[in-house]
Amino acid sequence: MPGVRAVVMPAPRQPLELRSFAEPRPEPGGAVLEMLASEVCGTDVHLHHGRLAGVPYPIIPGHVSCGRVLETGGALTDVFGAPIRTGQVVTFYDVYGICGRCWHCLVAKAGTRCPERKVYGITTSAEDGLLGGWSEQIELKPGVRVLPLPEGVEVLDFMGGGCGLPTGFHAVERARVALGDCVVVQGSGPVGLNALIFATLAGAERVLVIGAPAARLEAARLLGAEDTLDIQAASDPEARVRWVLERTNGRGADVVIEASGNPGALREGLEMLRDAGRYVVVGQYTDAGEVPLNPHRHLNRKHVELFGCWGFEFTHLQRALQLLARHKRRFDWRGLVTREYPLAQAAAALQDMERLAVVKAVIRPR
Ligand SMILES: [Zn+2]
Ligand SMILES: [Zn+2]
Repeated sequence: MPGVRAVVMPAPRQPLELRSFAEPRPEPGGAVLEMLASEVCGTDVHLHHGRLAGVPYPIIPGHVSCGRVLETGGALTDVFGAPIRTGQVVTFYDVYGICGRCWHCLVAKAGTRCPERKVYGITTSAEDGLLGGWSEQIELKPGVRVLPLPEGVEVLDFMGGGCGLPTGFHAVERARVALGDCVVVQGSGPVGLNALIFATLAGAERVLVIGAPAARLEAARLLGAEDTLDIQAASDPEARVRWVLERTNGRGADVVIEASGNPGALREGLEMLRDAGRYVVVGQYTDAGEVPLNPHRHLNRKHVELFGCWGFEFTHLQRALQLLARHKRRFDWRGLVTREYPLAQAAAALQDMERLAVVKAVIRPR
């Protein structure tokens, strides 16, 4: 097949296709990367089921990715002002188009809610070019922020974190995890595992992880979780709440981070939280329905601080990557990559992710 090969998701629930595209050239201020790796995550499964609104199918999936700079459209610099060189191995902030002019950007200062915001591999159409990571090459639009991988960080170290790295970081920042806190993480996928790591780095005295399947809980213990609870074994929500209370002098955790995607986790998480504790909801990325809460008991009387957490900003990616470079010996991010797949096996990667047979699946176009 001549040209540049890329995996296309033509529409929800349709088989993936390997298509050929013309070789891209960078626009002024943009760049073209030869792709080295791109993640497969829960978002891609949601995309394939059509669970996200406003997706311009056909798309080339793959948001958080790594590549080698093939060509730049003029001089580019990283955030420290150092030049971006051809041949350099980089990642990039997968969001672009945040306008800086709208109500969300200027008044609410909520850039991740800017209506102009676009995300590579999610809200970019294959009809507009190579704008997803499951491809041999990718076009970085003018203004997309390029981050060279720090010294000593290899592609798979970073891909083991994937989008869970800045998302978990953002959730921990939002929770204001303090020295000596007991933190409960609901969900043992990549976001939950990264929340565990960053809560530990933020000074949590201990972190408890509730999730499934066993291999992900094993990963949580290897990353330093004090204890884990398998929701497949403990299927009674009340027993799960008791499990936390037994480990927190009957008071509940200082911080609970929801990274499960199950709406039912909310009520449970609030019951696991101590009075005046902090609860961050980061796992409800798609609309999976509603749950009953008791406003008196769960919110008002508990004096709770409740936070949503949508996406991440450049600052989260940049600082999370610095911490990964500093602590990669202590936390084995790379070990979270269970399997690598060539482009032609993207459908298998998606399937393995859907049935949670892998912690992190990575597409290796080369
Ligand atoms: Zn805006
Ligand atoms: Zn992702």
